[in-house]
Amino acid sequence: MARPRRRTTTTAWGHGRRGAVQTGVADIRNTKKVRQLAAQLRNECAARGVTLVSGEAEEILADRIRGIAQRLGVNERTVLDRYLLEDTVPALADALAAADTTYHQAVDAVEPVVLDITDTGRVIAALGMTMKLATEALQTPTGHADALGVATDCADAVVGIGAAIRSTDDEDIEIGGATLVYARNVLQRAVQLIHDGTWECPCSTPHAPGVTCTLQANLINDMNLLGGWAGGAHEPPAHHR
Ligand SMILES: [Zn+2]
Repeated sequence: MARPRRRTTTTAWGHGRRGAVQTGVADIRNTKKVRQLAAQLRNECAARGVTLVSGEAEEILADRIRGIAQRLGVNERTVLDRYLLEDTVPALADALAAADTTYHQAVDAVEPVVLDITDTGRVIAALGMTMKLATEALQTPTGHADALGVATDCADAVVGIGAAIRSTDDEDIEIGGATLVYARNVLQRAVQLIHDGTWECPCSTPHAPGVTCTLQANLINDMNLLGGWAGGAHEPPAHHR
């Protein structure tokens, strides 16, 4: 089983951090001060047992700085020069460590689902479709939200399901842990992003606010094969078929 990566959707400061790259932020991320703060954040996180992937510390800081700038009505450079407190970086590291713990507890508490090969095939196809939509969204000006994260998590889910198929002796394939969490999350996210119009849907049925098109309905069905959406550790027992 692949190591569970820290999630980016449950953090204390709102929006997911991946996909947060926007106009203007790139400048801040490349400043000497942010690079220094990023190095400090990586160290503080490491001391708390959390490893940040390449570029992640800079992105977290940029996200934080943008949030403060919006709240105060000043530009990001001003925040960087004047409004970052001494405990900003340790506080961020604390929040990341807390989110990491929450995520691991949620993953550990997930009850596996058991699928036959036909339904496993459906789930793989749904993940493939979601990956395709995410990849297309990456090429549009407005569809970036979470697209890279969704595509990456789709890939992780497919790898995990492949491993589950390989390790089974009979017809039943057990999918659990981080693989199950990734698979549910990305399908859920895809439905949301199509539903709110952030992602363009290629299916031929009507698309309007409040209308569930055929592709959304199919993704929801596939999500139900996986025991439906689970928000965290308090999920009901998975649906065994
Ligand atoms: Zn559609």
